[in-house]
Amino acid sequence: MSQLTTIKSIKHLTHDVLQIVLDKPAGLTYIPGQAVDIALNKPDWSDKKNCFTFTSVPEDDHIEFTIKTYPEHKGMTNELLSSKPGDEVIIYDSFGDIHFKGAGIFIAGGAGITPFIAILKNLEKQNQLSGNKLLYANKTKADIILEDRFTSMLGKNFINILSDEDLEGYEHGYISADLIKKYSEEHLKYYYLCGPPPMMNAVEGHLASLGIGEEFIVKEGF
Ligand SMILES: Cc1cc2nc3c(=O)[nH]c(=O)nc-3n(C[C@H](O)[C@H](O)[C@H](O)COP(=O)(O)OP(=O)(O)OC[C@H]3O[C@@H](n4cnc5c(N)ncnc54)[C@H](O)[C@@H]3O)c2cc1C
Repeated sequence: MSQLTTIKSIKHLTHDVLQIVLDKPAGLTYIPGQAVDIALNKPDWSDKKNCFTFTSVPEDDHIEFTIKTYPEHKGMTNELLSSKPGDEVIIYDSFGDIHFKGAGIFIAGGAGITPFIAILKNLEKQNQLSGNKLLYANKTKADIILEDRFTSMLGKNFINILSDEDLEGYEHGYISADLIKKYSEEHLKYYYLCGPPPMMNAVEGHLASLGIGEEFIVKEGF
């Protein structure tokens, strides 16, 4: 099933990431972590679907997406760079399995943070954030999405890992088994994982080497 909705606001969160707020279509339901196919309702674009994760929470009176743009692909995300309030979007049915199962360590790479934006916002609303940790990998500090928001949500449990910059207060390099071990705690049973395929493969290997069972790994590939 598809429905039409309208862009209410659109702004840059980082140099290449947009936050897009839209009217919430009547009857639309989703759980934090789920995604949806959307298309732009304009000539040449209405049959081109792309998948994005809700970064709003279900009780919000609007829906929100957080979208990394790739101008060089000349695809939908490039088109969104020139979209404006009032533009129409076709939205399909919500889907996706990644959801909160219990306290854990959220491990994200780049735009792979989006399901965790919704899940962590929802935990904050329910007063269940305490103890959960976020390990967030990016190339540089300028690439970190919602750094201030996560810092105020999680404090010292928000750990940034930068591959291309060595800054005080930030881990440097790629996410390694040693790094995951450093932040692991007995009560944090689940490992939530989302990012680009190379990062996912590497981290899944690290979790296996640390003896984490598949049943404690919750993942979504982008
Ligand atoms: C479940 C799920 C949830 C997702 N949620 C989000 C989210 O919340 N936020 C987010 O930012 N992303 C998310 N993604 C990723 C997103 O769906 C797209 O992959 C991404 O936005 C592609 O953007 P594009 O502009 O390249 O669009 P497209 O229209 O898909 O691509 C345009 C063209 O670019 C070409 N192309 C593709 N890759 C390359 C490349 N590496 N180099 C050159 N050309 C290329 C393709 O051939 C295509 O014709 C999610 C993906 C999945 C599977």
